[in-house]
Amino acid sequence: MKNPSSIVWFRRDLRTADNPALAAARLAGRPVIAVYIHDKKGFFAIGGAQKWFLHYALEALRKSLDGLGIPLVLRRGRAEEILPLLVEESGAAAAYWNRRYAAEEIATDQTIKASLTGNRVEASSFNGALLREPWEIGTKAGGPYRVFTPFWNALRGIGPGRREVAAPEPQAAPASQICSDDLDDWALIPQSPDWAVEFRDCWRPGAAGAAAALDRFLDDPVNRYGEDRNRPDKEGTSRLSPHLALGTISALQVWNATRTATAAGGIAEREGTKFLSEIAWREFAYHLLYHNPAMPTEPLRADFRTFPWRDDEASFRAWTRGQTGVPIVDAGMRELWRTGWMHNRVRMIVASFLVKNLLIPWQKGERWFWDTLVDADPANNAASWQWVAGCGADAAPYFRIFNPVLQGQRFDPDGAYVRAFVPEIAALPNGCIHAPWNAPERALDAAGVRPGDTYPLPIADLEQSRNRALSAYEEMKAAA
Ligand code: FAD
Repeated sequence: MKNPSSIVWFRRDLRTADNPALAAARLAGRPVIAVYIHDKKGFFAIGGAQKWFLHYALEALRKSLDGLGIPLVLRRGRAEEILPLLVEESGAAAAYWNRRYAAEEIATDQTIKASLTGNRVEASSFNGALLREPWEIGTKAGGPYRVFTPFWNALRGIGPGRREVAAPEPQAAPASQICSDDLDDWALIPQSPDWAVEFRDCWRPGAAGAAAALDRFLDDPVNRYGEDRNRPDKEGTSRLSPHLALGTISALQVWNATRTATAAGGIAEREGTKFLSEIAWREFAYHLLYHNPAMPTEPLRADFRTFPWRDDEASFRAWTRGQTGVPIVDAGMRELWRTGWMHNRVRMIVASFLVKNLLIPWQKGERWFWDTLVDADPANNAASWQWVAGCGADAAPYFRIFNPVLQGQRFDPDGAYVRAFVPEIAALPNGCIHAPWNAPERALDAAGVRPGDTYPLPIADLEQSRNRALSAYEEMKAAA
């Protein structure tokens, strides 16, 4: 073949700027063909809510690539089969991609790399997702970190491991044309019923949407981040998570923009650093995932393998539907269903309620989140669930069990968040919005609330279920 092309395989890096694989492919000088493979099998196959985001992120990516003269080829199936096939069809001499870090993803990439290089096709991978590769940061003893603060200190000390790269210059279209699936045929967007109606008001998938979200956040909210990040009733966080999860923006772009704005005096040093430390939690989650390949399914603390979990489908179902009778939990679960996202403070509360008050295994919650979050992320989701369950690295001590009523009163003091998502109790006064079961008769009547009828009674008594969780923990420790 006279002018062989290069394939760039896009995965969770759906952007043209700061995309090291794409930049390297263009630098190599061959015409570039972009590929996205929709693999519906495997533990990390994109979940329901994220499919919605993926659809529009791919549309936006296609537009950006069009402007660069790079065709985007869409295919469905197992990447191990599809990618070598596409290389053959297109006569590509090289394939480029940005690395992934879950064990099964690494195994897939290694298989493909071996198959390509065996056929004399160059295969190169890059770091496009993280500030530092998981193996670039280690303790003094040379091992991986298990505690966040020293990890963060080490990361801050050395800083990002690469420079941001610009989007490539446009190219002349490649000679070989290979056919692509039609994105609409993938049916990523729900039809009947369209449960994602409200997603449109919340999200703007694609790199331009990510840049706008970052600008909005750095323009003002970042300066109250330390305080407001815990308030689900405020827009106090960046809402960059779905963009970071599908790579419509890179962690390095976020890092650099924040540092630049801080250096220019637009952001208070303390607030900017606090925000970057959250970006570092994401790095830490990837560090943990890479060094603990079983993290998505097995507790990092081995003693938790014998934890006496309960099998309680009815309670799990009530939890997923936001019908537990505990307002802040129900508000969170309904926010998740309606918008594909939930505030971090509330994620901690609903997760604690599931694994501690209901004693339902964290893996069930993790899977539900995987399917319902637009920001579902292989590392963040698993690490966070383990953190809440007390079985993860640097986890919250098990006996620190969130009281959802006190959490609600503290972080949603006027009940605005609960009212937004649990309208059936919206007319209750602030004093009882987080615990309607304690509301005086008069207040209930005036608000038209009939506990157990218009709104459920709590499916678990908070005090009793807390004691039951502590006993379960003692039982586990005694068995260890
Ligand atoms: P900001 O506060 O603006 O933070 C900026 C970015 O930093 C986030 O987008 C995220 O990439 C990262 N970040 C922030 N907090 C954390 C954290 N605690 N751990 C790791 N990274 C963090 N986050 C996901 O991206 N995907 C998930 O699947 C996910 N599952 C979670 C499950 C549970 C049970 C819990 C408690 C948390 C989970 N998180 C997950 C972490 C966190 O809730 C979200 O990252 C955050 O709410 C996203 O909102 P934001 O972008 O406005 O965050």
